Amino acid sequence: MLKSDCQSAWAQFLAYIEEKCSASEYANWLAPIRLASETADEVTLEVPNVFVEQYLLDNYKHELAAFLPLNPTGQLALSFVIAPPTKKGAPQPVEQKQTPSSSITQRQTFNSFYTFDNFIEGSTNQFVKSAAFGVANKPGKSYNPLFIHGGVGLGKTHLLHAIGHYVQAHHKKLHMQCITTEAFINDLVGHLRNKSLDKMKTFYRSLDILLVDDIQFLQSRMNFEEEFCNTFESLIHQNKQIIITSDKPPGQLDLSERMVARMEWGLVAQVAVPDLETRVAILQHKAEKRGLALSQHIAFFIAEHIFNNVRQLEGALNRLSAFCKLHHTVITEEVVEKTLRELLHHAPQKKISVESILKCVAALYEVRLNDLRSTSRAKQIAFPRQVAMYLAKELIDESLMKLASAFGGKTHSTLLHAWKKISQQLDSDDMLKKQIHMLRRNLNQ
Ligand code: ADP
Ligand code: MG
Repeated sequence: MLKSDCQSAWAQFLAYIEEKCSASEYANWLAPIRLASETADEVTLEVPNVFVEQYLLDNYKHELAAFLPLNPTGQLALSFVIAPPTKKGAPQPVEQKQTPSSSITQRQTFNSFYTFDNFIEGSTNQFVKSAAFGVANKPGKSYNPLFIHGGVGLGKTHLLHAIGHYVQAHHKKLHMQCITTEAFINDLVGHLRNKSLDKMKTFYRSLDILLVDDIQFLQSRMNFEEEFCNTFESLIHQNKQIIITSDKPPGQLDLSERMVARMEWGLVAQVAVPDLETRVAILQHKAEKRGLALSQHIAFFIAEHIFNNVRQLEGALNRLSAFCKLHHTVITEEVVEKTLRELLHHAPQKKISVESILKCVAALYEVRLNDLRSTSRAKQIAFPRQVAMYLAKELIDESLMKLASAFGGKTHSTLLHAWKKISQQLDSDDMLKKQIHMLRRNLNQ
């Protein structure tokens, strides 16, 4: 989670500063700083002492503001923790560390951005969101357990924390614990070592709501499965709410039949990759929260090119935001291509269909989709239709007959005629060349 890949704002900041300052300055002041935790809206750094913190703020405030998240009042959303003095050498990242006693006594803190309000709905996540809202609203009374599964970066943890926030606000008396599977295992190991397993059992079995993130990590830890399963059953039998997230549905997890069966007791709901419109809405929502001006056109451009997961979209936005602040520029298509080159490059190519071509063409020439499929010979319709037919033949590996029929039952000779006409016109018509170029790019070519 803390790997300094291209999506980590802190790693980007370091890479930028490393080029600017001397090697000794970097080694003395920057290198000892550790990233303790990083979310889309807050970064915590672990520094060896307050001098390093002061140095960073005195010398690099402007750059920090360009790379790291800002809070709603425009201040850096950056906090510091001092590394424990006893540690030798480089301090370790502190995120997610849970000692046995800590997770039991800890007050639950949820990522402040991960609320239901900030979760954008689309056709692929509507169901799971309402299921999550349902259990948050009436814990233990609707689906139990709620099992949320889906690929990386699609909002599972977001929904889990949204439930947490909602319960904290609306069911203050309920006793809730949100834990990663890793932390549960660590807890268990610690309590076994300290011979205080009973304390742990009492704690977990007295909960009203248990939120468990990333259950797939239980797969490689078979020894701990039984204790988890016992806890699980004990809670369910008392109608206490359990919500679990996983990267796979229960049946595909390498866990015992008993465990899989328990997880399938309630409702199994999937978060899937959001469709284009939802990705655009997510980008716009996140840009607005960051105070970043993002035109609809650019949002579409990014969303069309990055579609694997939402976290990647967010990384793209962080990068753009940093670039624009540092270079005092606004986001243009060129800036996007320059800044996100490798992200865009790595995105798998979109599958082009006659439908997607018709949509792009209709948008560019401002005609209706139905008109493109109609038999109308009016020039303002016939010409865009020919452009769409030209693109279909160029970009889709299908028989002419099949392509033609997707245009509302046209014949293959109509399609061929259109292709020839546009090909010829392209030789002399610069405007048409630009339009085709733009359409191809929008179609992810
Ligand atoms: P997962 O746990 O599935 O790997 P996360 O819950 O950590 O994914 O989500 C990754 C990032 O994407 C988070 O910053 C989250 O806020 C964001 N995200 C995912 N889905 C949505 C959505 N539908 N609306 C808004 N943000 C989303
Ligand atoms: Mg997660």
